[in-house]
Amino acid sequence: MIDFSLTEEHQMLRDSVRDFAEREVGPIISEYDKRQKSVYPQVLPKMGELGILGVCIPEKLEGSGLDYLALAIVSEELERMDTSLRVIMSVHTALSSLSLYQWGTTEQQEKYLIPQAKGKKIGAFGLTEPNTGSDVANLKTKAVVEGDEFVLNGAKQWISLVEVADNFLIFAKLGKEKGYRGIAAFIVEKEFSGVSTTSFHDKLGIRTGDTGEIILQDVRVPKENLLGQEGEGFKIAMSALDNGRFTVAAGACGLIKASIDASVEYCHERKAFGQEIGKFELIQEHLAYMQAGYDQSQLLVYKCAWMKNQGLKNTRETAIAKWQATNHASDAANRAIQIHGANGYSGDFPVERYWRNARANTILEGTNEIQKLIQGSFLLGYRKPTSLRCTLPAYEHES
Ligand SMILES: Cc1cc2nc3c(=O)[nH]c(=O)nc-3n(C[C@H](O)[C@H](O)[C@H](O)COP(=O)(O)OP(=O)(O)OC[C@H]3O[C@@H](n4cnc5c(N)ncnc54)[C@H](O)[C@@H]3O)c2cc1C
Repeated sequence: MIDFSLTEEHQMLRDSVRDFAEREVGPIISEYDKRQKSVYPQVLPKMGELGILGVCIPEKLEGSGLDYLALAIVSEELERMDTSLRVIMSVHTALSSLSLYQWGTTEQQEKYLIPQAKGKKIGAFGLTEPNTGSDVANLKTKAVVEGDEFVLNGAKQWISLVEVADNFLIFAKLGKEKGYRGIAAFIVEKEFSGVSTTSFHDKLGIRTGDTGEIILQDVRVPKENLLGQEGEGFKIAMSALDNGRFTVAAGACGLIKASIDASVEYCHERKAFGQEIGKFELIQEHLAYMQAGYDQSQLLVYKCAWMKNQGLKNTRETAIAKWQATNHASDAANRAIQIHGANGYSGDFPVERYWRNARANTILEGTNEIQKLIQGSFLLGYRKPTSLRCTLPAYEHES
């Protein structure tokens, strides 16, 4: 029997994250968005106190020991307020911390993962470059061995949490192997000499988050900061994206919910032709599509959460959840603007922010075209369930 009920623990988590988002972020988000001011310095310490920066990290590594459904719930509730909040779950938790958990040595976990799980340090993920996004195997950042160190040179672009992060997972070419086989992953501290960062301005959306560039100039990285083995970088990046995309999909559910909530409220308030606009069937049709998008997306996300909790491979399922949920979120935000009429086009209502934010989610963590290619290549047998993508370790619940 399939059980869709949330445990008491999951419900309490949902309520506490929702309460945090509404109380701490709700009153400021619109103004911060208009001013393009990062919300991270303000919210990260509070999220650390709440224990949500270590979701899915076992208690023995000072995480909260919660499962992947909990990660979905947190992502949904955060993005219900603003996408920049969910980005923290995707980047710090899913892409960085879970990679350190899955691939890190005991020493790396002690040094980097434990402080991240407690929220004392923030992790980020540096894969994309100025000339290479989807075509990961073609990245240009280089690592060479010099004595007991690696020396890294290159540039990373569109890196989330770039200003607040303490550690970056940097992917670079190492050794003679060509293409994806030549990629290695490195833990690079922002404080390492030769690392510099800048944050972009005037992005279409996610304006309360910081996204920017990392320049690596003769950065000396100790040998013990190689994550996994030489040549395993591509596998590490793809396994990280299996987790990151999951949070993007879950967050998209939150954006759909926010679009529905704002629209329902407006439908009752706004009158035309002598009645609430909610009485018009064409308006109800918009709401029906939004609700269908929410239900479909959440089902896909919850299925992935179940698979992840079992330690089952979930690359294809996560990819379809990310593609579908982010498309539904864009559609829902677009419909919410339509329901709001001209007011939806103004900065006085949140729905235009939802629409701008939703737009990024069909691009980041692998564009939706790439998610479609993943479906096609699995169906055609070009991508074997055993090839490249690794299996996530079974979730360890200790309590
Ligand atoms: C807000 C935001 C935050 C981000 N945060 C991070 C981060 O923290 N870390 C990080 O490493 N990156 C991050 N990114 C980068 C993101 O992952 C890349 O933008 C994404 O992978 C796409 O790469 P690209 O932009 O270079 O597009 P390109 O790869 O240049 O693609 C351009 C277009 O071509 C299409 N395309 C490419 N290849 C194919 C193909 N084989 N078949 C069909 N179509 C194809 C794409 O789908 C797209 O439509 C972020 C991006 C955004 C917008």
